[in-house]
Amino acid sequence: MNVTSLCFEGFRNLEDGEIFPCPGVNVFYGTNAQGKTNLIEAIWLLSGNRSFRGARDADLIKFGSERAKIKIAFFSEMREQSAEIIFSKGKKETFLNGVKQPASSALLGKLCAVVFSPEHLSLVKSGPSERRSFIDGAICQIKPSFKDQLSEYKRTLAQRNALLKDIPHHPELIDTLYAWDHHLASLGAGIIGTRMKYVKKLCEAASRYHNGISSGKEKLEIVYSSAVPEEYRTTPERSRDYMFAFLTDKRNEDIAAGCTTIGPHRDDLDIMINGESVRTFGSQGQQRSCVLSMKIAEEELIKLAVSEEPLVLLDDVLSELDSTRQEFLLNEICDRQVFITCCEAASVQRLKDGKLFRINGGKIE
Ligand code: ATP
Ligand code: MG
Repeated sequence: MNVTSLCFEGFRNLEDGEIFPCPGVNVFYGTNAQGKTNLIEAIWLLSGNRSFRGARDADLIKFGSERAKIKIAFFSEMREQSAEIIFSKGKKETFLNGVKQPASSALLGKLCAVVFSPEHLSLVKSGPSERRSFIDGAICQIKPSFKDQLSEYKRTLAQRNALLKDIPHHPELIDTLYAWDHHLASLGAGIIGTRMKYVKKLCEAASRYHNGISSGKEKLEIVYSSAVPEEYRTTPERSRDYMFAFLTDKRNEDIAAGCTTIGPHRDDLDIMINGESVRTFGSQGQQRSCVLSMKIAEEELIKLAVSEEPLVLLDDVLSELDSTRQEFLLNEICDRQVFITCCEAASVQRLKDGKLFRINGGKIE
């Protein structure tokens, strides 16, 4: 998978125009607030994902403009393809190879990418919901139908929670819980099974990268953690039965709390370096290296699943890493198409090959 051109019109602070990246490493350098993250964000949006900065569509339109257009030409599945998104006030249109799509998520799996930006450090620093979204997003890139499974689970969970809140006022409704518990346990077990399989593979690949980036000094481990005990997670049927029994047993607690206390919406990942939690004990460099290893592992798993090499988008990745870690990173990933931003071109002097772009006031040259 290779981006051959990128076109901007009225997008954030980027000047209207077109750029032609090389198939290897593309470095975008510039001082603060010139548009580097904006550029990475545009490519990420074109891969069918939502902004990693949580931006609303209206935020993407250049101040004072009516609409924004981003377009990408890429080579994938042995042919030239294009993806385009047009944002106008209150409306968004997405095109794949000139054909209008029902939603921008239709681009998921067409132009695959993994992204690292400083926001992604929240993967180790923040609470469990960040980690759940990471695994869910990563799985959706290789198995788009997982999105429907998650939506159905969320819908069922919301309905059960609404029912739990209604029961104290209408006790006769308690009989209807059975059906919801059954459905929720079966959907939940499916999600847990898919996530566990993914996390096992992610852990293998990420620990390999982390071993390299830390020159063999650190062992990274990623383990799926759930209120469904590990011995009950050997098959979806066992997870389902455990979850169903738990939902039935804890019914009164759930009614009192007004929410469901077991299921994939409560699960987490334990991320450890040399047996200690990275969140609690990891240094800044260790946390950054760990997130990077997870991101590169994510890329490797996409490549295995879709037989296409996803784009690697690295925003402001080099800061906080010592020179050995920087060197490992630059040389280990330069065999695929990479978009990397930094403040000074000197930071990437160890790179042998690639294309250098300077971003100045939104102008890319
Ligand atoms: P840093 O090195 O500090 O991370 P950066 O080059 O990554 O800087 P960006 O985050 O890309 O900077 O933002 C560049 C500028 O874009 C910001 O100063 C911001 O004010 C501007 N900007 C953001 N959204 C819009 C918009 N909708 N219209 C015009 N300008 C915008
Ligand atoms: Mg930035």
